Amino acid sequence: MSGSALYDTFARAPLSFDRGEGSWLVTTGGQRFLDFAGGIAVNVLGHSHPHLVAALTEQAGKLWHVSNLYEIPGQRRLADRLVAATFADKVFFTNSGAEALECAIKTARRYHYVKGHPERFRIITIEGAFHGRTLATIAAGGQQKYLEGFGPKVEGFDQIAFADLEKVEDRVTDETAAILIEPVQGEGGIRAVPNAMLRKLRELCDAKGILLVYDEVQCGIGRTGKLFAHEWSGATPDIMAIAKGIGGGFPMGACLATEEAASGMTAGVHGTTFGGNPLAMAVGNAVLDVVLEDGFLDEVQRKALLAKQGLASIVDEFPAVFEEVRGEGLMLGLKCKLPNTAVNAGFRDHNLLTAPAGDNVVRLLPPLNVSDEDIRVALDAIRSAAKGLAASAAGAA
Ligand SMILES: *Cc1c(COP(=O)(O)O)cnc(C)c1O
Repeated sequence: MSGSALYDTFARAPLSFDRGEGSWLVTTGGQRFLDFAGGIAVNVLGHSHPHLVAALTEQAGKLWHVSNLYEIPGQRRLADRLVAATFADKVFFTNSGAEALECAIKTARRYHYVKGHPERFRIITIEGAFHGRTLATIAAGGQQKYLEGFGPKVEGFDQIAFADLEKVEDRVTDETAAILIEPVQGEGGIRAVPNAMLRKLRELCDAKGILLVYDEVQCGIGRTGKLFAHEWSGATPDIMAIAKGIGGGFPMGACLATEEAASGMTAGVHGTTFGGNPLAMAVGNAVLDVVLEDGFLDEVQRKALLAKQGLASIVDEFPAVFEEVRGEGLMLGLKCKLPNTAVNAGFRDHNLLTAPAGDNVVRLLPPLNVSDEDIRVALDAIRSAAKGLAASAAGAA
């Protein structure tokens, strides 16, 4: 037996945290770390945000769970607010990103089914994508390392290379139901789809009666400086999965859709026990209270510029360690020359937490309300770590 009763599915860093304070995490031993991993883009308002704590504790004292057999006022309210702020008319709440994607996939297939086209169930997805770890979402993501050993791949996903997006039209058939895409790939290495490409996809979908489905689980909820990343392009989807940031640390997600796209999701065809429960809704509403405040997203954009400029000059300073800085808003990536896991560990040695991603990238996903001062602390840590990494790389060469 291995050292723990837990499944060995995670390669964990040897750190246990006792509490969080804003952008900082404190270990059980009292060591302080600046958290630019943010629970992987989850802690949009940092740790222990007073408004979120108050919302959760107030709800916890009243009512935790009732099931979707009854009305849940917090759900109606959050759905109304998401609808008012987006392209969507309809919302289904889930507990996670993968479940939000499952709902999105089912919504797209049902749309064509009720229109009399059950043969249109195939979904075009993009290489390097990440949509979750359920059987359907690993098929959608298409990464061999996540599919291996789990039986036949769920049918109906056709993957296209990121570089071949220009030629996506060639992959459309009479069976194509939807195109599923992250406007900015997160796990794939902070790879943004050009705005013009999103607009082109929108046009293609309109021309062919295909649904455009966005996965904004990671890039949504203010991460890029707009409430949703696709807003930079003006190309709205028919269906969108969200999660991570909307709960600010409370597990929740949602599938948003236009009335038309959701037309197949009639009574009884889909469900959830926990999704949209009163605790999650209290927190989701509290997150929106802050993120939708006047000027909040402008501040995200201002801080993002500060962070990105700082990172760009560090990249110039240490060409043996870094190749480039990428990303929008506070969804930033450092493409590395050295192995990203070594760079990530180097940052950790300087009390800065970040998250590795595909394409040899280290992700920086600070709280959206991070202070200018904490951005400077992070940049100093990155510079110090880069010095050490560059020196040991030169020594090894
Ligand atoms: C994290 C993530 C998911 C999966 O979310 P879970 O809550 O882990 O199921 C799906 N899509 C994207 C883009 C993600 O970043």
